Amino acid sequence: MQTDFTSELKPASPGGSVLIEQERARSSIPVDALSEFILGKQWLQMQRSLLPLLMGQKLLSKRTQMNLSRPDRYLLGLARAKLLRRMADQYHWSDEEYEMAKYLVDDVSPYTLHTTMFRQTLREQASDEQQQYWLPKHGRWEVIGAYAQTEMGHGSNVRGIETEARWDPATKSFILHSPTLTASKWWNGSLGRTATHAIVVAQLLIPKKTAAKDPVEYDRLGPHHFVVQVRDKVTHQPLDGIVVGDIGPKYGYAPMDNAFMLFKHHRQGPYTSAASP
Ligand SMILES: Cc1cc2nc3c(=O)[nH]c(=O)nc-3n(C[C@H](O)[C@H](O)[C@H](O)COP(=O)(O)OP(=O)(O)OC[C@H]3O[C@@H](n4cnc5c(N)ncnc54)[C@H](O)[C@@H]3O)c2cc1C
Repeated sequence: MQTDFTSELKPASPGGSVLIEQERARSSIPVDALSEFILGKQWLQMQRSLLPLLMGQKLLSKRTQMNLSRPDRYLLGLARAKLLRRMADQYHWSDEEYEMAKYLVDDVSPYTLHTTMFRQTLREQASDEQQQYWLPKHGRWEVIGAYAQTEMGHGSNVRGIETEARWDPATKSFILHSPTLTASKWWNGSLGRTATHAIVVAQLLIPKKTAAKDPVEYDRLGPHHFVVQVRDKVTHQPLDGIVVGDIGPKYGYAPMDNAFMLFKHHRQGPYTSAASP
């Protein structure tokens, strides 16, 4: 039987890491001062305090993750994201420290859209009343948010978005509908499996005040943002009239559940105030 001779082999010497150390030792650049100048004292201190905490976590090791299947990478991403949330509570991290921890872990979290586009859109586009209703729910993670703008047929051309949100004054509700296949929401992160809610960009249709009622004529008021409940908060199943799922494997971003989503005359409401259903 042939023995494995490779364990007796040694790397050629000097290796690249030794050579680079030697070159660095010869340099007159004041590395610490330059780091402080570029990154700032506070940033470096934060990094120094967070790094040992993160390096002690087995779950964050990347040694074997490339051998995992796409569904397992998603589950690992969820587990890592949950660990970071628990650590944020345990160590009383500020938003800045939480963001730095995510940066240092350097793996995309399936909750990314919750803490980025979902929150940012509420902060920048919602009325005061809407913010008072949604932001505490967001902060307590009672809702998990995504951002659903892009459609299969409409990326940069936001005016071309086809998803419709039709106002029904009789029931004080919005009826969401995807009239074609190209209206399918597409690419939307955190929505394929994780989110309960999404900010959906849709064409706002309001019944004309003066026109005939049968069939109802509508004013088309262009793309608007709507906070839409997508899944039941207990069973996590999509609500009636919503088809939603993961678009499948892609190059990179394995832990992220980028989504497709279609509506069939799906009703949200009735809205008892400007903010809430
Ligand atoms: C990893 C990933 C995550 C994403 N996450 C989300 C998400 O969470 N939510 C969401 O809503 N969307 C998401 N998107 C979608 C993303 O916002 C769109 O991909 C983006 O808006 C571009 O749209 P498109 O891919 O349809 O390309 P297109 O808009 O069709 O563009 C195709 C090409 O045409 C060029 N082009 C477009 N318009 C013009 C013009 N007017 N003049 C000249 N050239 C032009 C572009 O530069 C590009 O090269 C995600 C995409 C990716 C890849």
